[in-house]
Amino acid sequence: MNVNETRLEAVARCPEGADDPTRWRDWRWQLRNSFTSLDDVEKALAIEFDEAERVLLAETVRHFPLSVTPYYLSLIDADNFRSDPVFRQALPSSEEIVVRDHDMKDPLAEDEDSPVALITHRYPDRVLFRVSNTCSMYCRHCTRKRTVGDTSCAPTSEELDAALDYIRSAPAVRDVLLSGGDPLMLSDGRLDEILTELDAIEHVEVVRLGTRMPAVLPYRITDELCEILAKHQPLWLNTHFNHPAELTPDAEEALARLADAGIPLGNQTVLLAGVNDCSRIMLRLVQRLVANRVRPYYLYQCDLSEGLSHFRTPVGKGIEIIESLIGHTSGFAVPTYVVDAPHGGGKIPVMPNYIVSWASDRVVLRNYEGVICTYREPDEYKRAACTEECEDCERSVGKGCRATDSGGVAGLMRECDPVDSLVPNTNARYLRREAEPADD
Ligand code: SF4
Repeated sequence: MNVNETRLEAVARCPEGADDPTRWRDWRWQLRNSFTSLDDVEKALAIEFDEAERVLLAETVRHFPLSVTPYYLSLIDADNFRSDPVFRQALPSSEEIVVRDHDMKDPLAEDEDSPVALITHRYPDRVLFRVSNTCSMYCRHCTRKRTVGDTSCAPTSEELDAALDYIRSAPAVRDVLLSGGDPLMLSDGRLDEILTELDAIEHVEVVRLGTRMPAVLPYRITDELCEILAKHQPLWLNTHFNHPAELTPDAEEALARLADAGIPLGNQTVLLAGVNDCSRIMLRLVQRLVANRVRPYYLYQCDLSEGLSHFRTPVGKGIEIIESLIGHTSGFAVPTYVVDAPHGGGKIPVMPNYIVSWASDRVVLRNYEGVICTYREPDEYKRAACTEECEDCERSVGKGCRATDSGGVAGLMRECDPVDSLVPNTNARYLRREAEPADD
């Protein structure tokens, strides 16, 4: 269904003023008139939850707030709401209050890797900076449910200043990701101030901004906002579209406005059962994204956050989807499928396997059609002489970091790295050796 048709229907159900197109396209009006109660959603969509279900849904909303913009609500196909991808992302499910044994409050250990409030410093050269705690629409699959939407966790000016001080004091940080909540919940002026502060830090080379606004409240992407973002280049913006139904004409207009302002656009999709766990839906999504000048960046395996088990798919589903994309559509339309490792291990890319076998002089590979071929290795290969002392070497691991600090398997492959094995700190054999050193 076209958004304009659905909007006309929504207009009839929405609060006063919804039939005025100027107000409808005003992002502040949308926020003021967001749906925050189940009763209002039922009335607006002309649907009814049964009594027992309503009790459970009310309970879920006590744990994680409900807030849906009139715009996003207008995308729901009320006749088939239970299987509607927008409904499933925006409205609670009674399964949300089920906490499984392996669910975690903070599966990515963002709080543990937080040297100061609002900052997560996990990777050597970049930090996550949570500048806002609210969103225009609370996604039911949010991995940060533990804090997002909780007004008692809203960032204070002192915390924002301390977070900026931390970035100033960390010369290895060359990339700052503004996240939240949604950073575009800040006013234009406040966002401009934060971006100006970051611009003034010499070692910060790039800023990224993660926002769901183009999908759930595209009217937030105003000309004034685009002018501000364009002042702070290089700035990358990552959107969060999960289903082609979210790519409405209004959303496409918002993306075009950003792209025309020279902002490079990427998209992060979360793989969600009952929303987008289908190769054809995903193919349509990535193709529509690139047609709108948005590069599909990551496809995330749904995290182990509490209450998300009904959204999780087996990892095999993600691999199946990537298998159906690679070769079947343009390479730059294929996102990297990642599992964000529990306990803060970071994003681990997961792929179908294209190496069939490997000999000393050739690799046997298969393509997307199932054709198997050999690639001959070079007869002679002279490794570039390297002392790991040049300026680029220092930059590649970040100033102030040693190569071995986060070398991982890449560290094992470096000639000058003294580490030649990685051993889990719970390895019984090594623990025994430490406890009972052998006699000389
Ligand atoms: S927009 Fe992002 S931070 Fe906000 S609720 Fe959705 S997933 Fe969570």
